[in-house]
Amino acid sequence: MGLITLLRALSVVILHCYVQSSSAVTRNDRIWPIGGTTSVDLPQSSPFGPRLQISRGSKYDYHRGVDIPAILYSNVYAVADGIVRINGSHPAYSDGVVQLKHTDWDEGGVFYTNYIHVVMNKSGQNPITLAIGQSVSKGQHIAYSNGTSSLDHIHFEVRVGSVFSRDCCNPWKYMPNNDSDYSSIEAELSLTPNYDSIDCQAVVIVSVPPNLLTFNRVELHILDSSDTPQKVRFYDMCGTNVNRTQGQVDNSTYQDDPDDYSSSYLIRISPMFFNSKSYEKNESAGWGFEFVDLPSLSGGGRVMAIIFDVFGNSKSTEYLSYTCSNGTTTAPTTSSTTPTHSTTPTSSSPTLAVAATLGTICAFVAIYSI
Ligand SMILES: [Zn+2]
Repeated sequence: MGLITLLRALSVVILHCYVQSSSAVTRNDRIWPIGGTTSVDLPQSSPFGPRLQISRGSKYDYHRGVDIPAILYSNVYAVADGIVRINGSHPAYSDGVVQLKHTDWDEGGVFYTNYIHVVMNKSGQNPITLAIGQSVSKGQHIAYSNGTSSLDHIHFEVRVGSVFSRDCCNPWKYMPNNDSDYSSIEAELSLTPNYDSIDCQAVVIVSVPPNLLTFNRVELHILDSSDTPQKVRFYDMCGTNVNRTQGQVDNSTYQDDPDDYSSSYLIRISPMFFNSKSYEKNESAGWGFEFVDLPSLSGGGRVMAIIFDVFGNSKSTEYLSYTCSNGTTTAPTTSSTTPTHSTTPTSSSPTLAVAATLGTICAFVAIYSI
């Protein structure tokens, strides 16, 4: 091969690479599966994560996706370029479903999108036909919404790395979103003195405004009297070993510490109550995380909480003084406050709770290499 021929071949390769990279999907290039727009303020009727489902007797239910209201037979659009894996129905799903496989533009690897409560037919229209393995483009019309008896909506899921339900993550990372609005997510930390005479506990209440439901993770950091970090406790909605059971028989909100599944560490979750009409009231979401079995620190220490959204934006509470000895947590301010299991994100105790402040977190994140 002559030099000129070689250069021409290389230029073709380079041009090809350039074209591919320039057309790659980016995080800022997302659309809603209903409407197909890039608007960031469209409604959803149920957020991702743990909830107490009123229609099932307020049982614990891990919502593996988000619900998006949609007038019956609305067009459903692919949120990214992908390959068809399920084209309308599948025995593993109780309702109509389209599943697409995508290249993950943030993390590499693959992710899958599920569009559930859909049909391929609409009266007066030609049926939509998708072949398994067929390529689809972002914004392509792939189904019609069919809703459920309680609400006209679709259930939209994202499964990262595999098709299994254990890998469901918060779809907001893959939907139009203004993550600079993260500052309006709030967290409150309180210590629970001597709740059951056994465990030392801390409670973190997370409050998220409507249509900004990107909250994903809460961490509890404890420093002893020498400022030595203790084990970081956390609950990550997208993490491994999270209980993603749907329609759990009892209404237990207990969750083994996902960081140490074999341990006795527990996190009690107080999810929001879910009502399919919640969105009509423009309700905020709220979760309570009660970290029990905290270490005994007879010499005293400090505790603080950090919350994260799906993009890694973070916010910390201020530190609270902390002593836990002989099964009793001693808060800096004497209080007989019992742990709140309230599902409303109201302040649990004005003397113990502190509002999260943005800006102080980065240093701690760096220290702990989170
Ligand atoms: Zn749903």
